[in-house]
Order: sequence, then structure tokens, then C-alpha cells
Amino acid sequence: MKETAKPKIGILAIQGDFAAHAAMLQSLGAETIEVRTVADLEQCDALVLPGGESTTQLQFLQEEGLFEAIKKVAANNFPVLGTCAGAILLATHVSNPPQASLGLLDMSVLRNAYGRQVASDVFIGSSKLKSGPMEMVFIRAPIIDSVGAGVEVLSEYANKPTLVQKGSILAATFHPELTDDPTVHQHFLDLVRKNAVPAESVSAQTGK
Ligand code: GLN
Repeated sequence: MKETAKPKIGILAIQGDFAAHAAMLQSLGAETIEVRTVADLEQCDALVLPGGESTTQLQFLQEEGLFEAIKKVAANNFPVLGTCAGAILLATHVSNPPQASLGLLDMSVLRNAYGRQVASDVFIGSSKLKSGPMEMVFIRAPIIDSVGAGVEVLSEYANKPTLVQKGSILAATFHPELTDDPTVHQHFLDLVRKNAVPAESVSAQTGK
């Protein structure tokens, strides 16, 4: 992608709340692409793995060859944002119950772990990305139990990380697409733009 171009953000679109991510990203000036195949993924500058049911999403990724394709592009600094079920897919360790995952972010997650009070509702947490409180919508959310070296905790609720980042991989246990607060998506787009190739070096490469 050129620095000046509109970033093309892919959103895994098999189930879950992919449309809300698309609306938020479009309002921030990005183009969005619904991703269901490896060919769709190849058109994108970055990918969002939305909430939903991680077991269903995992099975789809494996059947479509997207599981390996995502791991391959992510190894080359391709930005990925995972929210809720998407965060579960990004983790290195998943329990309650255990399942396979992409392993792109060094963290352990426990599925459906907040208990009944926090099962599905809006809570106020804190974030390094903004001053003041941050609204977080949890829907049968996982808890991030531990993070590995070099994983930065950007937001917390009840003393547990809720938004974490390492390099160009970002994971939230809450649903930033279901509030009016664009902080998380804006941070993701900043990351995508930082990854962009400066226009000059694109023309140097292509000779145009
Ligand atoms: N509980 C779901 C899972 O384990 C995640 C819920 C969500 O994405 N809102 O996959």
C-alpha cells in the first residue's frame, strides 16, 4: 500500500459482527473488504478478526486455507486486529475449553471467563490510548490471563488486560465496534499507515 492510498482493511465475514467493524472503519476513512477466501485476503493491507464464536470461525479458517494464509502474511508485519473471538484466535494458548489458534500474540486466554455479572454488558475501563474512561462492551468475553515478554497492555478492566499489542498485532477482549468511541480502530489504522510504503520508494521500486 502507498502512504497516500486509502487503507484496504479486510474483515473476516463469515459470522459475528463484521458489519459494525466495517461501518466504524469506513467512518475513519478506510476502505473495507469482506474476507471469505485467500484471494480476498490478498487484496488487503490489514485484517480484522471480529467477535462471534471462535470455534466456528477457526473451523472455517482451516477449511478455507485462511488459517495458514493469515499466519504467513502476519509473519511479514501484516497488521491484524482481533476482537473477542478474534482475540481468542490470535492467542498462543486457549483454555476453557482448549482449542487450536493462530498463535500470533503471546498470551493465554480463558474463554467465557468473566462470569455472570460481566457476561454481556458495558463496563468502564482505562486505556493508555486516551485520557479518561473507556467504555468496553463485553459479550461472553475471554479473560487475558497472562501475556508474554514484549506484549504491551494498552487497556485494562478489573485488573485484567483487555487490549494488548505486539508489533502489528492488536487484540481486544471487548467490542470497540459496538460503541461510538473510535479510539481502538483509529489506533489500528495508524498502525496500518505506519506500515505503508512511502510513495517515493514505491515509485523507485516500480520505476514510475
Ligand atoms: N465466547 C465466544 C468464544 O469463545 C466469544 C464471544 C464473542 O466474540 N463475543 O468464541
